[in-house]
Amino acid sequence: MTGTLRDAPVTQGGSGESPADYEAVIGLEVHAQLLTRSKMFCGCPATYVDAEPNDNTCPVCLGLPGTLPVINRRAVEYTVRTALALHCEIPDFTKFDRKNYFYPDLPKGYQISQYDLPLSRDGHLEFSLDGRRVRCGITRVHLEEDTGTLHHAGDVLQSATSSLVDYNRSGVPLMEIVGEPDLRSAEEAREYLVRLRQILMYIGVNDGNLEQGSFRCDANVSVRPRGTETLGVKVEIKNMNSFRAVQRAVEYEIARQIAVLGGGGSLHQETRGWVEARGATVSQRSKEQAHDYRYFPEPDLAPLVLGAEFVEEVRRALPELPEARAARLVEQHGIGEYEAALLTATREEADSYERIVAAGVSARLAANWLGNEVMRLANAEHRPLTESGLGEDGLVALLRLVEAGTVNTTTAKALLEELYLTGGDPAAIVRDRGLGQVSDTEALGALVDAAITANPKAVADFQAGKETALQPVVGHVMKATRGRADARLVNRLLRERLSG
Ligand SMILES: [Zn+2]
Repeated sequence: MTGTLRDAPVTQGGSGESPADYEAVIGLEVHAQLLTRSKMFCGCPATYVDAEPNDNTCPVCLGLPGTLPVINRRAVEYTVRTALALHCEIPDFTKFDRKNYFYPDLPKGYQISQYDLPLSRDGHLEFSLDGRRVRCGITRVHLEEDTGTLHHAGDVLQSATSSLVDYNRSGVPLMEIVGEPDLRSAEEAREYLVRLRQILMYIGVNDGNLEQGSFRCDANVSVRPRGTETLGVKVEIKNMNSFRAVQRAVEYEIARQIAVLGGGGSLHQETRGWVEARGATVSQRSKEQAHDYRYFPEPDLAPLVLGAEFVEEVRRALPELPEARAARLVEQHGIGEYEAALLTATREEADSYERIVAAGVSARLAANWLGNEVMRLANAEHRPLTESGLGEDGLVALLRLVEAGTVNTTTAKALLEELYLTGGDPAAIVRDRGLGQVSDTEALGALVDAAITANPKAVADFQAGKETALQPVVGHVMKATRGRADARLVNRLLRERLSG
């Protein structure tokens, strides 16, 4: 009975329908700035985060009369690289178009984008989620330019007293990746974004920064009665600048739409903004007021004919993608799938792992340390292994000491933590401080005997069949050696003595 009550309230309507009677349909549009040195159509620097307002501008990206755009070859290459990584087709012939609208951050009064003949189309992105495969179609990947940014003085939610415009971002190469409405839950939407961002970073075209907006996402969400094929009324959600925000916004929007429909209401096509503080989407504008962009071919740019040779050259230069790399690591090194996914999260981490294994450390030991201790330190210290005091060579040296049994795991973990910050030669430090593992049977034997005498109750409990009672006795020996004893040997010696 309580289960029924808990399942019901979202709909609130008299129709008797529950959220389970509806299916969500989600399609994502991602805008990703390309990591080129210069802007899309001029020679201004494309990086602007630390620049003074309007420093990175010229007559072209300020949209002054009489200027002409020149296509950035690298931006075309990066877009094609992305399209190929997403299994898209690359048409022979492509062109740029003008998308006309007025806004203060758009100095020309139009954006150069691509309309009917984009650089690529018909790809897909496939990934695993909760043990099943999800395949999302990619409608197109096309190339355009970013706008400037507006800075509002005063209270934005009330009325701004003044607004300032910065054109440093104006004309930065921007790639739009349009996904098919193939996603069915907020979790799938989030995972799609995580994987897409990972691929863009792997192939070196985007820095994946959601907070700074170099990787940003809009979501189109609709719901329909389960089992039907017709698409419901679509709502576009904007203003999400974290994976968590995307998941929450989509979840909220699905529940809101189901509640409206379940209550007998109807939805209309609109754009809604995600308001993090309220945990809700709010209406921004309805589709009736949406712009008519009056697209037409950009008259200042000749159409692009890429040629099969160019496309093949870009294809050949594609690096191994994260999923394929994880699968290879499982195959080649016998590590677990979860471990492999962790180790290939970024290209840098995967490179580190493979270099450490190539240096002779056992693949499993390296996977274990990189996937646990090293990853924890890298997150805590906000710097990867390669930028730590220890570095890859230091870690290799440390893991060799572990493999050789020179130090035990406890000592090695303490050393890792220290050397990650300060750096230093692990072997020399172990020697100088006398941290070497005590694995001398005779010396340990004496300590084991002393530990048995000092812990009569634990010993009696162990002999009565309580396995865990041995722990404090082992602990006694570890303490006596300042953590340096070979724990496995101590265990063996203890058991030999106690089993009589
Ligand atoms: Zn410029």
